[in-house]
Amino acid sequence: MNKNIPELYGSLVFNDKVMKNKLPKDVYQALKKTIENGTHLELDIANAVAVAMKEWAVEQGATHFTHWFQPMTGITAEKHDSFISPVGNGEINMDFSGKELVKGEPDASSFPSGGLRATFEARGYTAWDPTSPAFIKDGTLCIPTAFCSYSGEALDKKTPLLRSMETLNKEAVRLLHILGNKEVSRVITTVGSEQEYFLIDKELYKKRRDLLFCGRTLLGAPAPKGQEMDDHYFGTLKPRISAFMKELDEELWKLGIPAKTKHNEVAPAQHELAPVFETTNVAVDHNQITMELMKKIAERHGLICLLHEKPFTGINGSGKHNNWSLQTDTGVNLLEPGKTPSENIQFLLFLTAVMKAVDDYADLMRISVASASNDHRLGANEAPPAIVSIFLGSDLEKVLDSIEGDRRCDRTEQIPMETGAKVIPHFMKDTTDRNRTSPFAFTGNKFEFRMLGSSFSVSGPNVILNTAVAETLSQFSDRLLNVAPEDMEQAVHNLLKDTIHNHKRIIFNGNGYSEEWIKEAKRRGLYNLVSTKDALPYFIHEKNIQLFTKHGIFTKEEIYSRYEILLESYCKVIIIEAKTLEEMVRKDFLPAVTTYVSELSKEALQKKSLSSSISTAYEEALLTLLSNSVDTIYDNILSLHKNIKEAEDISDTQKQSVFCHDVLLAKMEEIRNLVDEMEPNIPDRILPYPTYEKLLFSI
Ligand code: ADP
Ligand code: MG
Repeated sequence: MNKNIPELYGSLVFNDKVMKNKLPKDVYQALKKTIENGTHLELDIANAVAVAMKEWAVEQGATHFTHWFQPMTGITAEKHDSFISPVGNGEINMDFSGKELVKGEPDASSFPSGGLRATFEARGYTAWDPTSPAFIKDGTLCIPTAFCSYSGEALDKKTPLLRSMETLNKEAVRLLHILGNKEVSRVITTVGSEQEYFLIDKELYKKRRDLLFCGRTLLGAPAPKGQEMDDHYFGTLKPRISAFMKELDEELWKLGIPAKTKHNEVAPAQHELAPVFETTNVAVDHNQITMELMKKIAERHGLICLLHEKPFTGINGSGKHNNWSLQTDTGVNLLEPGKTPSENIQFLLFLTAVMKAVDDYADLMRISVASASNDHRLGANEAPPAIVSIFLGSDLEKVLDSIEGDRRCDRTEQIPMETGAKVIPHFMKDTTDRNRTSPFAFTGNKFEFRMLGSSFSVSGPNVILNTAVAETLSQFSDRLLNVAPEDMEQAVHNLLKDTIHNHKRIIFNGNGYSEEWIKEAKRRGLYNLVSTKDALPYFIHEKNIQLFTKHGIFTKEEIYSRYEILLESYCKVIIIEAKTLEEMVRKDFLPAVTTYVSELSKEALQKKSLSSSISTAYEEALLTLLSNSVDTIYDNILSLHKNIKEAEDISDTQKQSVFCHDVLLAKMEEIRNLVDEMEPNIPDRILPYPTYEKLLFSI
């Protein structure tokens, strides 16, 4: 206790302060240039950095190093090598070279590659990403790296993200220069990701195969109380939860992760953590570490942290809000409405660029948040719908309306407006009108993408966002490129006007949960890609392949491989769930009910043997109900078993995904309903798994 938090903060990170201390001045400056401007780093510099890094790590008690990377599994990977290097006569040195820092060669054959890496070429490369600081975790120096195949194809989530950030930087700077804003030489994207999660008791967790294998409950009748009292959101933290959060904060702070806000969420046992925003690349790495630490620290408190998007039916699931903006190296947030007309021109251009990007690539936005687990959330009236739309708030919408209609928005009479720049001299942050049902909301000086699942790497959605916006900016630049300075205001106004006119269909400020919106969205020609199997095929549409290849984000092969990986993982998840359900019902539930049935019949007989006038109506009614239902459930389990085999036999993954959705999930749902309907008739002592009541309310 009484730890000095500023001193604790970042103590396990090879950060700027440490670098300045440990590195010779020229090395420090060269490294800094690489970090800030993405310039190439020479090996002699890398050697000097490696020496300093090792020295620092060993001082902190580290014995190993690892190239820490993010394969397509959605989680991180690490292989630890010790620093020891024998020098003969049984002694060792602690060694670490620039070569080891810069490049690793892990065997890549057991990571998902979607056919990119034939197993005979098993080698993969990891390459140091100096823009994300190295850190120490459990006595190991972790070096953030990108991961690619022997022939250079990206096999991870970091490589395309870095590519997309670079592309967006290039296009944003180009547009700013065309607008006459020449001071800016670099634009980065910033991300703050709010993370939701559940905490449940570890002992209860261990008693449920569904939680163990799938991270969500496949069975379970609702508890008498859910979230209807609205008494959990922002409620007082229980001591066990509070102790967990405290330790989590401290561990995150040591790693330089700016954990800021923590609170109880809407559903019982649900919580949230929000960090202060950072450069996207670092924010992505930090969110991965946050998720990992949440799980690890929960166990120290006898808890299990569930990051699944929908662990429990009937109450809210968990998402992740990706707050996103653009920042110049001159310190300007490009999505902050300005105070002067020229700042406003800039703001409106970037705002409408995002609007156009989201409209043009709404299918990719949807794909970037698609997974078997997130399908249970999107469109389920607790999370944004599966239809991508943008919320701007009424103030800003009025501004756009007036530009489109050549009117000044601060007057009611219709007088012609000269340029878009003058329309919003007093634009204020729209705080009153916060729309929680919108998938993509403008929140004053940033956009909040709310469709992400809680278990997601935030990399994918940001790759799409960055790339789509870069494409729009590039189109804007092409249009403004040869405009004379004196004509610029008018040209920008026309560009804004056209963009608003062509893309305003993506703006929706109403209730995203309503039936009418689904109809309205259809009328507007917006995508409604309800499930992952509906969304994924759009990944390989020509328009999207062109986007990625034009900007060098993915090659065509990389796109196909990612498509294959996503489809495969979707099918695998559902098949594992189906198998788990089969086991739970066959091995646990049905035998338990049968035991209870025989107990009941014994009791009935015993009563009758005392006197034939004693009523056994209760036992008989229950016996009939349970026995009939056992038969029906068993029949369904036999069909599920057959369906699983059928699913496994489909070799075309796209067809398999449709079967998994249409047949397996539907069958699982049917079985779940039957079992859950029976659950209240069975005493807790007989029920083979803990109920929702225990899982959600026992802490
Ligand atoms: P909310 O009401 O949704 O919780 P907050 O204003 O508290 O909104 O911010 C939520 C998240 O947005 C935080 O993680 C915060 O750091 C992040 N954020 C704020 N400004 C930016 C920005 N310019 N770029 C990216 N993220 C930002
Ligand atoms: Mg939020």
